Amino acid sequence: MTRGHSGSLPLLCRGLPPPIWCQLSLGALGVLFVSPNQALAGSLTIYSSRKAELIDPILQQFSDNTGVKINYVHGKANALIKQILEEGDNSQADLLLTSDVGTLIAAADADVLQPIHLPILATQIPPSYRDPDDYWYGLTIRARVVVYASSHPDSAGLTGYEDLADPRWRGRVCMRSSGNVYNRSLVAALIERWGEEITEAWARGVVANLARPPQGGDRDQIRAIANGECDLTLANHYYYVMMHESDNEADRTVTGKTSIRWPNQTDDGAHINISGGGVAKHAPNRADAIRLLEYLISTSVQLALSQTITEYPMIPGIPVSNTMVKLGSFHADTVSLGRLATHGEAVTRIVTAAGWK
Ligand code: FE
Repeated sequence: MTRGHSGSLPLLCRGLPPPIWCQLSLGALGVLFVSPNQALAGSLTIYSSRKAELIDPILQQFSDNTGVKINYVHGKANALIKQILEEGDNSQADLLLTSDVGTLIAAADADVLQPIHLPILATQIPPSYRDPDDYWYGLTIRARVVVYASSHPDSAGLTGYEDLADPRWRGRVCMRSSGNVYNRSLVAALIERWGEEITEAWARGVVANLARPPQGGDRDQIRAIANGECDLTLANHYYYVMMHESDNEADRTVTGKTSIRWPNQTDDGAHINISGGGVAKHAPNRADAIRLLEYLISTSVQLALSQTITEYPMIPGIPVSNTMVKLGSFHADTVSLGRLATHGEAVTRIVTAAGWK
């Protein structure tokens, strides 16, 4: 399928110079409950790569408000996309939810979504965080940040993603695999900003700096820094926040030895990714799928998501968790995430050439 792309840029925090995240304390905003209108009860089947327990209370509230019963099918995003394809016209999938823009783009390109043109979504979600042709919408925002050993003497000079490839950090960098969607989306964003040549040189520099072969998830990289295996890595902000707020003392100890640096604050800004969703192409319950999308972007749900799953809300000004407040405001990259789809082959070529496993 042929799909166009918009180059328009978002205002992440209306009323402030874009793109700066503004943060408020909880008391600064009255909690608005925006309940969908009661309607005839139906059912809704959600295919989702998000663990059910993360959003179960929110979905339960939607069911209570609307009488719509929810059938939640959890799996890996790529497997769910394949399943919808194989089910074809008979698919019961109404809504696909994933936690990376790469998989939303893959779903649209696989032709398992349908465009939904809805003014409320277009109003609430900045253009950078939704598909230019309305096949998918971002619902929450995550930033990929630099994490470092707090005690490292060179940490004061850290400025951004380029540091991961700086020879000063030779043998001191931990990274997860290049096949991970978060890293693939980041490399695509770097290509969009820097071009392929500079991005490939960067990837080669990162590989040269590795302290160990790529392994584990984002949390494992942060733990490796606390263990002294390395001093520098990348992680999505919410992993650090969740560890900082964890009931597990070991996780809190890890964040006591590590810090985050908002990357590239004087140039392109921190790379942003999204959790989001789109209505399935053959959704039997299209109207209720749209109602749920509207619900997920409502003020009350955005507030709940920012507090419980510690991702940044799509609606500017909604309070974030205490730890996120402590992390401070940041300048976010404004590149349209839909643009990242154009760099998939280049990402594969570059990480392969660099030997980034
Ligand atoms: Fe994640």
